[in-house]
Order: sequence, then C-alpha cells, then structure tokens
Amino acid sequence: RERELSGVLDCQEDITNIFWADAKMMVDYAHFGDVVTFDTTFVTNKEYRPFGVFLGLNQFRETTVFGAALMFDETFASFQWLFNTFLAAHNGRQPRTIYTDQDIAMGKAVKDVFTEAYHGLCTFHIMQNAVKYLSPVKGEEKDEVEEKDEDEEPHILTDFSACMYGYEDLAAFEEAFVNMRCRMHKQTWFDSIYKVKEKWAECFMRDVFSLGVRSTQLSESFNNSLKNHLKSDFHIVRFLKHFARIVEVKRNKELESEFEARKNIPRIKMSTPMLVQVSKVYTRIVFEAFQSEYERSMAACTRLLDEKKYVVTIGSLYGDLTFEDERIVIGDPLNQTAVCTCRMFERTGILCGHGLKVLDLMNIKTLPTHYILKRWTREARKGSILDRQGRNVVENPKLEALLHYKGLSHKFHDMAYKVAYSTECCLILENALDCVGPQLEEKLNASTSDMNEPSKAQENDDPNMQQGDDLLRAARLKKKEVQSKNSKIKN
Ligand SMILES: [Zn+2]
Repeated sequence: RERELSGVLDCQEDITNIFWADAKMMVDYAHFGDVVTFDTTFVTNKEYRPFGVFLGLNQFRETTVFGAALMFDETFASFQWLFNTFLAAHNGRQPRTIYTDQDIAMGKAVKDVFTEAYHGLCTFHIMQNAVKYLSPVKGEEKDEVEEKDEDEEPHILTDFSACMYGYEDLAAFEEAFVNMRCRMHKQTWFDSIYKVKEKWAECFMRDVFSLGVRSTQLSESFNNSLKNHLKSDFHIVRFLKHFARIVEVKRNKELESEFEARKNIPRIKMSTPMLVQVSKVYTRIVFEAFQSEYERSMAACTRLLDEKKYVVTIGSLYGDLTFEDERIVIGDPLNQTAVCTCRMFERTGILCGHGLKVLDLMNIKTLPTHYILKRWTREARKGSILDRQGRNVVENPKLEALLHYKGLSHKFHDMAYKVAYSTECCLILENALDCVGPQLEEKLNASTSDMNEPSKAQENDDPNMQQGDDLLRAARLKKKEVQSKNSKIKN
C-alpha cells in the first residue's frame, strides 16, 4: 500500500515507513548513483524512529543526497520495503556499490534488493566495534592483561586496521588474521566479523568500484548538521521540512562549486598534451588527483617482461631513492589500454601512475577517452534523465537560473567598476542598457505564456509527483506502539 504526500499528512499517526526523494535527487542519482552509502541515525524525531539517508559523491567529490527515509523499525521487512522503494524511485537502476553498517536485517535486505551491487561494510563502524570488543574487559581479564594492557591494546587495533586496509594479498590477510585471533581471549566478535570478511577487507575489494569510499561517513559536516538541526521533539512533517532545509543549504554550496568550476582552470604543473587536455575535461579536484598520478608516472622505472607486459615500479625520495611495490601492466597500443594490477582505475575511475607510464612508453600522448569517466568531468550533469514514466526529469530549474544570475552579476559589477571614473564610458554603458531593456522586456512577455504552462501541466500529471516533483512514499499502515501515553503525536 502506497500513499502520496497528502495521504501522509492526513493520517500521519499511522505511518510506519516514509521515503522521500525529489527531482534533484533523481537527477543526481542518475549521474552519480554508482556508489551509494546508507546509514541510519536515531533520536532525531519525536518517536525515536531511525532516520536513514542515502548519500553519494558528485563530480566535485562532494556529498550528494539520493533520498531519505523515516523508518518504523529496523526489521528485514522495513529495509526491504525501503530499498525497493528507493530503486523504484530511481528507475530501477542498481548502484554498483553500496555501503552500510553491520546489521543483520539490513544486510539481508541489501542482498535481496541490490542484487547487482557489491555490498561493503562501513570501516568506521567496524573500527568502532573493534575498539569496543578488542579492548580488554575490565575486571574479567585484568590479571592476565594488566601489565601488557598499554602495549597490547593499540597493537591489536593497529593489526586489525592493517587487515582492513593493508593486505592486498589474500594469503597474507588470512595469516595476519589468524595470528591476531590467537592473541584474543574472547573471539565471538572476531568470528562474526571474519564471516563477512569479503565486505571489509582490502584484499577482497581490489576490483570494487568504490571511488575510494570505504565508509558511510561520507560527509561529517552533513551528518553533523543533520544531528544538530533536527530536534528530537519534531513530529514527522516538521522533521521532513527541516531535513529539506538542510538539503537546500547543501545544494547552495554545490551551486558555488558549479559556478567556481566554470570560471576556474586548474593549475597545470607541466604543459604536456595530456595534462592540458585533461585539465579542460576533469573537475578541478579530480584533475588534481590525476595530475599527482601523472607526476608519479614520471618517477616510474620499467622493465619489459614480454611483448605487452611491463613491470612498473615508482620511485620516491625519502633521503635515499626508494621504490614502491612492483606492478604488472599489460599495454595494448592498438586498443590504447594499459591494465594495471594495482586496479586503481577499476576502483576509482582515475588511471594510475603505472598505467600512465605505459601509455607514454607506447607513445600515447593524450588520455584515451575510455579512461575518462563522465561522472568525474565538468560535463557530468549533461544528458537528460528520464523518470519511471519515461518523462524528462527537470532538475531544480533554479539551478541554471541562479548560475546565470551569478554570472551576469559578476559581469555587470566588473564593468561598472571599470567605467565608474569615466563619465563618457558610463554614458555608453547606460545607453546600451536602456536600449536592450525594452527588447528583453518584450521577449520575456512573449515567452512567459508558452514557457511555463506546458511544463507545469506535464509535471502535475502524476499524483506521485505532486509537491514540486517530490516523491514521497509511505508504507504498511500500522500504528507504532508508543511507550508512554504522553508521547503520542498531537496534531
Ligand atoms: Zn597501477
């Protein structure tokens, strides 16, 4: 049973799960929904319901919101409903990777719904548990551990952290894990985390497209503003409105980035054809990541194993010249590919220094287009997005308008500043503006009628798209048992 927003408002006391996504979130997901994190927080509303947010990374590596949910409980059925609703809202498009914290019910639902995605566990949550379970229990094991306490504790966490991030090789990971396990008195948590090792240990994630994300804590600041601004005495509607406001603040920041990106060209350290080419394509932050790989490729030494196989190792100067681990790169000049065993491109969408070195050895001087992911480019948002009914989703129309406004304001301001001391120039400028004013007025009057109406009519067809394109879904109408009579919702 599904309800639209108006239904939610009428019978909010009976609502159990609510999902919300607006047009901008649908567009963002279509462009950047390859890696998704889902996390729930508590005590953000009157009934202490879990509040879940789906997040991802945009082309500036900033957090972007794909949807939010107010949940009745954290059962398998609730998660299953939520994830299905999330997918349906986003046209059934599966993420490539999804991160959550370690929760059995949630994990089952992820497996059930996100059938094409790799499911990763948030390293931040695992580490929190590690600190909790691997620290010696006071009293119980005191006698044995007391003396070693100070040395042992950070040690085992360091080892655990190494298992999480350090070992690329499966055998090395297994060995380190077994060693660490032997040193523990209580192994319950160890055994449970070992059972899901594919979801958190680096050696199982060599090919996982993650964009470098390993945790659901994508944006500390976003999570903090959620927690700070959402008061615990809010009822549902007020709560959602507040959430929408926080999202709005975030979007204004995004607008700044978009605006900055249009006028700023990143700093190129060397004018090589590849860097010049790529500086025009990538967003600034991604270009900087690429440029540092490019610099690394300059310090690479190579040796040919056979016709297409190169051994590549990158040197760096720490007092003496030292070399990183050797990588094997298969170079194919015909297809312009360089496939490296470090798998960086497969994980982050940015080609590694090893691959770049081999491209150079094959005399390939510009970056082949198959190594440029659209999601990292300035054009990441180009291309139209269709909703479930196959209609164009109009992303926040304010976005373009605001960008234009900011651009024009800058231009006018600069010009006014320049000519202010010259009466003659001021006159010319004013005349020009006076001249173009009526012309623009006329154009605007002529186009208002045919600009607004068709799009309005189109958007309002679908009852699910009311309230300015918002998609709101509520499910399984049943009343939450309230612990104390006083805490019942009053309208
Ligand atoms: Zn590599």
